[in-house]
Amino acid sequence: MSTFQAPKGTYDLIPPKSGVTLAVREAIAAPLKNSGYGYIETPGFENVELFSRGVGESTDIVSKEMYAFETKGGTKLALRPEGTASVLRAALQANLHKLGNLPVKLWYSGSYYRYERPQAGRYRHFSQVGAEAIGAEDPALDAELIILADQAYRSLGLRQFRILLNSLGDKECRPVYRDALQGFLRALDLDEDTRRRIEINPLRILDDKRDAVQKQLAGAPMLRDYLCDACKAYHEEVRELLTAAGVTYEDDEKLVRGLDYYTRTTFEFVHDGLGSQSAVGGGGRYDGLSEMIGGPALPSVGWALGVDRTVLALEAEGIELELPATTSVFAVPLGEEARRVLFALVTELRRAGVAADFSYGGKGLKGAMKSANRSGARYTLVAGERDLAEGVVQLKDMESGEQTPVALVDAVNAIRERLA
Ligand code: AMP
Repeated sequence: MSTFQAPKGTYDLIPPKSGVTLAVREAIAAPLKNSGYGYIETPGFENVELFSRGVGESTDIVSKEMYAFETKGGTKLALRPEGTASVLRAALQANLHKLGNLPVKLWYSGSYYRYERPQAGRYRHFSQVGAEAIGAEDPALDAELIILADQAYRSLGLRQFRILLNSLGDKECRPVYRDALQGFLRALDLDEDTRRRIEINPLRILDDKRDAVQKQLAGAPMLRDYLCDACKAYHEEVRELLTAAGVTYEDDEKLVRGLDYYTRTTFEFVHDGLGSQSAVGGGGRYDGLSEMIGGPALPSVGWALGVDRTVLALEAEGIELELPATTSVFAVPLGEEARRVLFALVTELRRAGVAADFSYGGKGLKGAMKSANRSGARYTLVAGERDLAEGVVQLKDMESGEQTPVALVDAVNAIRERLA
């Protein structure tokens, strides 16, 4: 293995493509910042129990995919596999829920780690932008989050995504359904692993991708028929609010998602150009999570959108984002005196907000012009002794090839005007 090889299941973000990733993060965050969500950042690792209690021992994320380790001091930690449990933990620690302003609305952006089998769109280190609205039970809040995700994807130009929606019921009706489903599943012809799953996480079996299993599931009791009146009314209102907002969704009774903490509203965003790893984001209501990790009752709802897969979705739709120019002006000095003068001018341009770069390393004219071309700059500034003696620099338009002298004292203004 090459010493320069990134670990399996990871990849590096490298310019210019890394610019797309940054733009995706910003596009997802923008509607949140505009809707009362405050930015939160939590550590990359937490005490392992936070995830085993919060996300759930029976989930793949915790039982198979967690990067858990023991520190030299004997503390059991895990790299965070998801964001919700950490954000809720941090909100409880800071007593944000006691400040009398519920819901507490937070957004985050960061790296997450799961020891998964790597494939296209599935990595061991990936990136999410997420949002959590903590401490309120209100269908409008569930609708708000779905609407904001829809807005984020649309602002990026994405069109081939669908919103799948379901209700998982609450602590009243879900256990009744669970019993009924377990009864049905126990009578089927299933492998050992799946049989074990019946006892610990039966709803997940509905999600099984294998045809042989799906065939047997025909006629399985459906949660929809077990929802209590309160859950039904809640779900109906979420649906109405989405429709009123012009957000199209599909009811998907089999959508259960891989985390134990969800109650009532669950949803997933899938993109049709991504093959098997089609989920670009997902979320739902988690009314019981706070109590599961030892906090007070705090009904909450949230989502996390995968940044890596959103970038892949853009590629699948052939969308090229209009990224701000990394370099608008590139300076090419000819000689020592010009080097000092142009370096000062570049500094001045940057302070004036113009993206500017400089030919470093003592290159000759030819090499420096090559760098200017590669930089993608709209203008090149060239100056030699004679120009300086005349108090000018040459401004070359890289599109037309036209070169005009501009007075050094007025160069910043002249360049800003042309770029505007
Ligand atoms: P989840 O917490 O599993 O619902 O994940 C939310 C979103 O994060 C998914 O819809 C994906 O877009 C993204 N995601 C989850 N796991 C991975 C992974 N291993 N690699 C890349 N993206 C992922």
